Amino acid sequence: MTRWYPSQNTKHGGTHPPRTSINRVGEHASAMRRQEQRIHDKRILANYVQLEPGVLVIWDRQPYRVVEITERPLDLWGDKHEERFKQAVAYWERQQRGERPEKLTWDGRPMVFVLAPDGKPQEKPLHLIGPANHSWDVLPEHYWICSACGELPPCRHQEAERIADHDAARADVLMDIPPGHCLGCGEVITRRQQATRFPGPNLWRPDFPENSAVFHARQECSTPLWQYREQWEARGGMKQQPSLFPDDNPAA
Ligand SMILES: [Zn+2]
Ligand SMILES: [Zn+2]
Repeated sequence: MTRWYPSQNTKHGGTHPPRTSINRVGEHASAMRRQEQRIHDKRILANYVQLEPGVLVIWDRQPYRVVEITERPLDLWGDKHEERFKQAVAYWERQQRGERPEKLTWDGRPMVFVLAPDGKPQEKPLHLIGPANHSWDVLPEHYWICSACGELPPCRHQEAERIADHDAARADVLMDIPPGHCLGCGEVITRRQQATRFPGPNLWRPDFPENSAVFHARQECSTPLWQYREQWEARGGMKQQPSLFPDDNPAA
């Protein structure tokens, strides 16, 4: 196995032996470019780990150690893999490229992966069935783990926080929109611009008066307008009156 960098989270893993070259269509015209390409290929190839007992992989955001990898006997493939093989043969018959797939060597043939949860000897190993060419994420011996939830990064906990922060930023910006501005882009709606106004309470800015929800009628602001309309209709809506505007300067 080749070197891991301290900040490197994963490498690619698979069941086939490491390749020594990458199949390419065509080559550069320049000799120096071809040499650079070969150097680049070496680096890609060094990022591959062949799965074997002892290798650490990710399954369902948790670290597992490979215990055993075996071929699924031909008579125990099951309907799903039989069907996929039929499709692979049908595809080959249309394309006629390369060798005709054979069950014994087809790269989508089912294999059994026995994985033991890393660092939890009391837990039972998992038996997974998957295609031989499945691409695995391989972990180094020293890997990061979230101390809050115990998952590998990016953990569900981190993803939830990211979404919450994004929503909070969006809400902050929405609260800064001045009255009468477009609730989509936040910018002023000039007299010349077409606008769509929704009657009733302002669903996004409850601090604004009735009939104040307004959007530019342009393409750019159509996604938030559509989102607002969905919520507005879900609350029963009312007939939309894009041509009627409240009089901002009523005669005293
Ligand atoms: Zn976490
Ligand atoms: Zn707008």
